[in-house]
Amino acid sequence: MNNENDALNNEVVSLQSFGAAETVTGSKHLLQTPDLNILVDCGLFQGMKSLRERNWEMPPAELSAVDVMILTHAHLDHCGYIPLFVKNGYRGKIYMSPPTRDLAELILRDSAKLQEEDADKANRRGYSKHRPAEPLYTTKDVETALQHFVTLEPGQTFGLNDHICFKFFPAGHILGACSLEINCYGKTIVFSGDLGRYHSELLPPPVHPVKADFVVMESTYGDRLHGADDPAEAFALAIKDTVFRRGNLLIPCFAVGRAQDVMHILWRLKNAQIIPQSIPVFLDSPMAASAGRSLLKYADWLTLPPGEAVQMFSGVTINQDYRLTEKTIRQKGSKIVLAASGMLTGGRVLEYLKHYLVDARNTVLMIGYQAEGTRGRALLNQVPEIKIHGQYYPVKARILGIGGLSAHADQTELLTWIKGFEQAPNEVFLVHGEPCAQEAFRVKLKDELRVPVTIMKEGRPKLLFRINRSELKVLPLSEMAKQPPVSPVEG
Ligand SMILES: [Zn+2]
Repeated sequence: MNNENDALNNEVVSLQSFGAAETVTGSKHLLQTPDLNILVDCGLFQGMKSLRERNWEMPPAELSAVDVMILTHAHLDHCGYIPLFVKNGYRGKIYMSPPTRDLAELILRDSAKLQEEDADKANRRGYSKHRPAEPLYTTKDVETALQHFVTLEPGQTFGLNDHICFKFFPAGHILGACSLEINCYGKTIVFSGDLGRYHSELLPPPVHPVKADFVVMESTYGDRLHGADDPAEAFALAIKDTVFRRGNLLIPCFAVGRAQDVMHILWRLKNAQIIPQSIPVFLDSPMAASAGRSLLKYADWLTLPPGEAVQMFSGVTINQDYRLTEKTIRQKGSKIVLAASGMLTGGRVLEYLKHYLVDARNTVLMIGYQAEGTRGRALLNQVPEIKIHGQYYPVKARILGIGGLSAHADQTELLTWIKGFEQAPNEVFLVHGEPCAQEAFRVKLKDELRVPVTIMKEGRPKLLFRINRSELKVLPLSEMAKQPPVSPVEG
């Protein structure tokens, strides 16, 4: 591995990241082989303006030579760049699990709609520097991208050519999220994707294959522990305290994923009469009902007893129409509101924030990872004011964070996951983490696994191995699943 430029030579397999390298958004990891270039995830950069602006840049040349794309899960920082990637000329297939296909469609349509609305608002109110302000992509671009989606069940091996095949393994995290095993010229490379919890509200713990030569692993919470306490207890305390002060509880969360976990916890707390049955719960999201239907459709992916997935939606008012947001804000009496986006970067949650932030009786409860540069991170860092749509709002409401509800594995869970391989891999590559978390996890992994650990740097290829053609065997036919059908694209 002396000469990194070997990665550009023909008879090697190399890895290169074009996002989620020393940061947590914009996931794009390219596996370069002599015959096929495989892109794992194609996410949007989110958070700081300098990152978001990168979504508008022309992608590096290497990404114009992608043959196959594989998507680990439906979060926007993993799939949000796909419509633009297709618009820029990608013509290949995009493989994913069936629930990921449904959720990615929801999320991408919502993303396009929000961008169209934001561009429209910016043009009408004149707060954009760009005239006219344009969306990054449109609903029509999303519909074109959907034509490339192909679904594959976990555990089903799919051959891409005589020497490369891959398989999905459920990773917890959100519905449909998977780790990915790529068998490639006799070696096994495992991409963790985003890893979930070992004791999640709705999903089973992550699983992975028994063997890997190389592991490309997320490290979002590489330096932190979520704590052993049941997050429901912290939740109940925050609710009771806010109701006592006659305030409102605002929970910024994405409508797909965390929102369903929170609804299940609220249902549990109400059922056990730990919080009052009478406190209204609003889920203000056009996607929420569809995301709920996905939970019912893919009940096999959940740990819930039959029927509970239906019951947890009872007593929740879902605001489909944006005109109901203002009505909910004005409604008298304490209430719990769940609204997107989870990191307060946009969406209807900002309308609630404008009203609720300035009143000390209210609570804003942060439950997910808050990336650097987002309003969510700023609030957790106790900033005195927040700028929303060109205006400043003083932070008077109580800001609380509950780590236990995170969709990401903590340091102990990350270690449990990687120690689950029968043998330690030859090398581990860390992606999807901010520098402090990655450095802490690198040291920990090196000490506990005694293997080389590399933090991926953006745009710098890492040579994985040289191909020894004389020892190569063509993959047996049993390893080569039939071409799965292209998923039907819903109108
Ligand atoms: Zn994710």
